[in-house]
Amino acid sequence: MAELKDVKGVGPKSLSLLNKIGIYTIDDLVTHYPFRYDILERNDLSKVDDGNKIVIDGKVESIPILMRFKAGLNKMNFRLVTQSGVVGVSIFNRAFLKNQLSVGTGITVIGKLDKSKNVITASDIKMDLLSNSVRIEPVYHCTSGLTNKNMSTYINMALLQYGKEILDNIPDEYIERYHFLNKKTSLNIIHNPSTSEKLKDVTIRLKYEELFEFMFKINYLKQMNRKKNNGLERVIDHDKLNDFIKHIPFKLTNDQMSAIADITSDLEQPHRMNRLLQGDVGSGKTVVAFTGMYANYLSGYQSALMAPTEILAVQHYNNLVSFLAGTGVKVALLTGSTSKKEKNDIYKGLMDGTIHMVIGTHALIQDEVVYHNLGLVITDEQHRFGVHQRANLQNKGKTPDVLYMSATPIPRTYALTIFGDMDVSTIKERPKGRQKIDTFVKKNSEIKDVLEMMYQELKEGHQVYVIAPLIEESENSDLTTVNELKDQMKLAFKDLYKIDIVHGKMAGGAKDIIMNQFKENKVQILISTTVVEVGVDVPNATMMIIFDADRFGLSTLHQLRGRVGRGSSKSKCILISDSDAERLQIMEREDDGFVISEEDFKLRGHGDLFGTKQSGDMSFKIANIKNDYKILLQAKKDSKEYLLNKETDNDLLKQRLIRSISSKES
Ligand code: ADP
Ligand code: MG
Repeated sequence: MAELKDVKGVGPKSLSLLNKIGIYTIDDLVTHYPFRYDILERNDLSKVDDGNKIVIDGKVESIPILMRFKAGLNKMNFRLVTQSGVVGVSIFNRAFLKNQLSVGTGITVIGKLDKSKNVITASDIKMDLLSNSVRIEPVYHCTSGLTNKNMSTYINMALLQYGKEILDNIPDEYIERYHFLNKKTSLNIIHNPSTSEKLKDVTIRLKYEELFEFMFKINYLKQMNRKKNNGLERVIDHDKLNDFIKHIPFKLTNDQMSAIADITSDLEQPHRMNRLLQGDVGSGKTVVAFTGMYANYLSGYQSALMAPTEILAVQHYNNLVSFLAGTGVKVALLTGSTSKKEKNDIYKGLMDGTIHMVIGTHALIQDEVVYHNLGLVITDEQHRFGVHQRANLQNKGKTPDVLYMSATPIPRTYALTIFGDMDVSTIKERPKGRQKIDTFVKKNSEIKDVLEMMYQELKEGHQVYVIAPLIEESENSDLTTVNELKDQMKLAFKDLYKIDIVHGKMAGGAKDIIMNQFKENKVQILISTTVVEVGVDVPNATMMIIFDADRFGLSTLHQLRGRVGRGSSKSKCILISDSDAERLQIMEREDDGFVISEEDFKLRGHGDLFGTKQSGDMSFKIANIKNDYKILLQAKKDSKEYLLNKETDNDLLKQRLIRSISSKES
């Protein structure tokens, strides 16, 4: 299989730049879709102002004169006859075009017009003169050092070199039914559209394929679950379970109690549990999960709880250990930073059954982990794990029961589509004593007031989270950075309070040290990117300030805000933004995550709801669950029909799709 570096023109430098924006394979490259298109209309020389962009057709009138400079640079000049007059054209570093530009050749020139010299400095010359007057230019997400032009060149080179190897992931039958083009042609068109009609057609084709693959995998997993209707049947000692619940240091809400009842009843039934535990941030899902794990322990089986980050795994571990004090249950913590020796001890304990429960990150799904008798698997923030990872963990035991926890409320209609086969327990009620978090939208010019509010909280011995979208400054953005904020806060609070930073690019260990210092109130002001978004629990933190709040979706803001208001003190959240006030004001009014997610969905589609790239299987490259809901429904129906059609069981495509579910790559 060819690699990205085999694409002509991709050298070590461009390779690392491509990696930087998440492109590692040829497949990543050719499916790096434009995020928008610029429509370039042909102009007249007279209608374009000096220094402005021009797109013009014409014929080469003079033999191009080529000048070569040092370091392999070159420049070419020639005259172009157009309908609105003759104009000079110069273009850099296209010496290779010289032979094609003979006198009389029809071309399209794109560049900037210098009116006084009557010269266009061209950024591009298109040889394939088109009859229509509009040119559609793809615009890609790039990074500094990697231009849109580079991106387009690499993509087209990859398609040229390896296009033959691109396989369709839609069965022929459906390709024919919908008159779809093949994938290779579709990719060619989406990266080089000649008309908006063709572009629209192939966009639908590519969206359909992406959703077809996704729904195929979901349907396959559901089918496997249903088929193996040989769940574990067990007996739970309810006296002991009730005793455990009685010793929980707070009174469980009714919703928590009924979720626990759902889970224990699933455990006792012979069918296999496949349940989603939904609940707003702070609704208290963790203790429900722990109780489920204890019930599972009482029935004689091991439990595994998988968290999306190390910080969260450690937090769960510490909580669980204290909940279980005196019960004799043995719990282990397994993460990427567990030492080799400890790991081996844990593997051994899991294999021989002396460890009853394990909490961890992705480390739980490594091949080395073999369980003695895994009976219950719980994944926290399930949307962060891909289909593949979910499948892997399930396969470790024979048929363990599975519970997914999610704080990201998915609007019901969509949830039913994607999780249609799962049972759902929902926690709506908040723990007693919780108060609404007072939320205010403020402008950057009001920062003084905000600092004053911060000071009030700090004086009372409380702690504050400050969130910024970026870590470092980047050339093309004026967003607030955590480093900048640290300087600002230092200036405002001198040495009165300890200030520190966490962000996603820090090594796990360093991040944990600071998070723990914050937990122990050794740090009072924690400045962070959105890494604190998931699950961290510091009840003494009563204020959250989010800079450039307009950059975030409402669901993310709600998740972030959920980090405060966890204790009994009144908490505040300040959203700082100079724009988008109307949308942000929804946050001032609403504190119900489900309502907010519906609003978000209406406004932005699924993008934010399921997070970005790291969000596992919910992130799509081209499709959008909300806007493409009709395509999703069709793909769902078709993929199911295809899956159930026995005649296609020997299809290479079907086998490939199934194989990709249990492969660990994604
Ligand atoms: P989430 O559902 O967001 O994962 P957590 O499980 O982290 O929420 O719970 C948030 C906080 O509320 C924790 O500190 C937890 O101990 C506490 N908590 C959970 N249930 C209750 C309850 N019934 N009464 C009081 N506090 C509770
Ligand atoms: Mg949680």
